[in-house]
Amino acid sequence: MHKVLVSRCLLGHRVRYDGGASGPFDQLAAWLQEGRVVALCPEVAGGLPTPRAAAEIPGGQGVQVLEGTARVLTTAGEDVSAQFLRGARLALELVEKHGIRIAVLKANSPSCGNLLTYDGSFSGVRVPGEGVTAALLKRHGVQVFSELQLPEAAAALAAL
Ligand code: SF4
Repeated sequence: MHKVLVSRCLLGHRVRYDGGASGPFDQLAAWLQEGRVVALCPEVAGGLPTPRAAAEIPGGQGVQVLEGTARVLTTAGEDVSAQFLRGARLALELVEKHGIRIAVLKANSPSCGNLLTYDGSFSGVRVPGEGVTAALLKRHGVQVFSELQLPEAAAALAAL
């Protein structure tokens, strides 16, 4: 059975930076029931607390953080790139351990966003790009969807 990597906050786990969570989502509940879900919050796994300061990637995207040419900074200017990179590597370890080819990660996050992230100005402006974990997983061939694309994720799973 193919497993799916899922952002913990989409499963109702209160791990978001503000102590909140998202969901419920029927598709994710069904996959949980089937035993398909491998859950991870990269930021918490990488060593950050909950709640924590919001973080964005000024002047870059997850790909640049992976390459060391951009940093993840909090609203206070603290560099949390190391924790974000650690979380991304732990996600990749899970993917390799379970042979995962599909992930459903939270939209717009500097870790998990698959299509858009915030622009680094902490003003709510979103720009095309990926978070650190999403970028690393895509680089290794994982199809990354968000909670806004659950039908597409289910179709991709069925096609494996
Ligand atoms: Fe954790 Fe990703 Fe959810 Fe942020 S979006 S709380 S990093 S699982």
